[in-house]
Amino acid sequence: MAAWEENVRKVIPYIPGEQPVRTDIIKLNTNENPYPPSPKALEILQNIDGRILRKYPDPEAKELVQELAGYYSVNPEQIFVGVGSDDVLAMSFLTFFNGRKPILFPDITYSFYDVWADLYRIPYERQPLDDKFEIRTEDYKKECGGIVLPNPNAPTGVEKRLMELEEIIAANRDVIVIIDEAYIDFGGESAVRLLPRYDNLLVVQTFSKSRSLAGMRIGYAFGNEKLIKYLNDAKYSFNSYTMNTVTTAMGAAAVRDDVYFRETIDKIISTREWTKKELIRLGFAFPDSKSNFIFASHAKCPASKMFEALKAHGIYVRYFDKPRINNYLRITIGTDQEMKSLIEFLEQFLGENV
Ligand code: PMP
Repeated sequence: MAAWEENVRKVIPYIPGEQPVRTDIIKLNTNENPYPPSPKALEILQNIDGRILRKYPDPEAKELVQELAGYYSVNPEQIFVGVGSDDVLAMSFLTFFNGRKPILFPDITYSFYDVWADLYRIPYERQPLDDKFEIRTEDYKKECGGIVLPNPNAPTGVEKRLMELEEIIAANRDVIVIIDEAYIDFGGESAVRLLPRYDNLLVVQTFSKSRSLAGMRIGYAFGNEKLIKYLNDAKYSFNSYTMNTVTTAMGAAAVRDDVYFRETIDKIISTREWTKKELIRLGFAFPDSKSNFIFASHAKCPASKMFEALKAHGIYVRYFDKPRINNYLRITIGTDQEMKSLIEFLEQFLGENV
């Protein structure tokens, strides 16, 4: 090892789901939305006057922040925006988790949390989900340096009731509790309405799933004004211009098009419910999902085997070779046609292999 390597900040990076170059596949592996973004957002892209790109963007992304503030009935000063919710979460870890006590999150959860904790040298303790993949409230009622919980959880899709989350937030008023609501629009109940009661609460959401804009990278957080100011202070000390001009305008247009947003979500929810019934018919079991994916296992066929067979057939789902979940497939909800193809293939495959 070279001497300089001793002083390198070493981390084992997060590995995102595969983004294959091939376009002839059914891509159900990264929880993207199968439908295009709002036509109103695409109009912005088509009509952009390239000359505005000469100038720096608005560091406060005011157009987007105003639009979100109106939509969610909060003050603009209660909103932080970033380059996807990954950026928002990373900045939140950096800003709020500076104590010596460990932060808490589930053992089965979004696998970026421990990567950020390692990157920033934040101590952490994983709290095991119960055997139904539920977050146990009592595990989060102890001294800690902060809490991060996704709701619904990923990759399980399981929603925790808002009342129980509130119990956790109320029991931890001396630290920041982050609720990661990447998948909340697919049927969960948002913690946004708890904001007036708790100054230790940060709610993080994204345009990547329900608003079909994963490729633009827009995430945001709601918190009280003081919390958001601390977040912005850290962000402006890092990079003032995280939100570019085009992204900000497209995001604002997407929020304005509420009709399209609701229509898209309704379609995904109804496809999800159809897929659940079909998976049960084929002998799969899964915790009930309130997200745009289903975390399913089959008693008679190993998940790794189905994963490989699906991939060879051009259907990509996600498989995690990790303790407790290595017999599960995380299947993103695609279009009706995509899910029909998935079910047809699985039916045939299980018929021949179990
Ligand atoms: N939180 C959770 C639970 C996720 O699954 C994801 C998607 N990988 C994110 C946050 C980040 O999403 P994005 O950065 O696209 O907003």
